[in-house]
Amino acid sequence: MEKIIRIAVQKSGRLSEDSLKLIKECGIKFYNGTGKLKSTSTNFPIEFLFLRDDDIPGYVSDGVADLGIVGENELVEKNKEVETLKKLGFSKCRLSLAIPKGEKYPGIDYFEGKNIATSYPKILGGYLQKKNINAEIHEISGSVEIAPSIGLAEGICDIVSSGSTLMMNGLKEVEEIFNSEAVLIANKDLADWKKEIVEKLLFRINAVQKGKSNKYVLLNAPNESLDKIISLIPGMRSPTILPLAQKGWSSVHSVISEDQFWENIEELRTAGAEGILVVPIEKMVI
Ligand code: ATP
Ligand code: MG
Repeated sequence: MEKIIRIAVQKSGRLSEDSLKLIKECGIKFYNGTGKLKSTSTNFPIEFLFLRDDDIPGYVSDGVADLGIVGENELVEKNKEVETLKKLGFSKCRLSLAIPKGEKYPGIDYFEGKNIATSYPKILGGYLQKKNINAEIHEISGSVEIAPSIGLAEGICDIVSSGSTLMMNGLKEVEEIFNSEAVLIANKDLADWKKEIVEKLLFRINAVQKGKSNKYVLLNAPNESLDKIISLIPGMRSPTILPLAQKGWSSVHSVISEDQFWENIEELRTAGAEGILVVPIEKMVI
């Protein structure tokens, strides 16, 4: 049998685009025709299963898929035995409690004895228990925001990113109960040969992620300020210094995190740096 691993990704929804983008940035090619539920990469030993996100934790814990990309909210709610290998930094959102806009909110005690609609009964139940609140959880699978206006519940617990859906439904967010982002998960009992392939994939993901959070910086500086400038942008091993055609000046090339760049920009300019270019990095291996 050919040695390939299987990864479950969301078929269509708020995780799919970024999941597939990450795979592509890792240099993994595959055909993703509409309606296809399975696809094998042409240049990496991996097969894709395109599924509903609800099913991904279960498929990975059962071993039908070796890996999966899913939101932490779905993962915790499904409560399946899997290993989380890596946070992926996209599909960030939060689970929050919300109530009708006109209601006064004195604090979490507001929910004592109330009825709350949600698609996340486990996460909500755990939160309420921790806060010592007795409330009735009404599980519904979608369109949770309309529950209060149709008299189904007094409050809701749902995914929020910008808050505009809540607002449109006359609700206000009153408690954040869980923060989520996409994660890469793996089956707990992977065979060694599968682990080797997973390591190769992780190596690529790390290179992509490091590249994204770092920038290649080029600048010109008078030679007398080089020491100062090198201390501000130390780079991976050390910056590259190249002489400019104009005497007494050099070009400095370095790699730094984007945050570090913004923190140091004023000092760089005060030290005499000019013609500063900041260039994206596609991949970075250190
Ligand atoms: P499926 O049909 O696969 O079951 P779904 O409707 O359950 O899809 P989506 O709305 O596509 O799910 O959301 C998938 C995941 O993306 C959520 O579980 C959550 O982790 C994340 N997510 C949801 N809403 C947002 C948002 N507004 N911004 C960013 N991430 C979000
Ligand atoms: Mg779903």
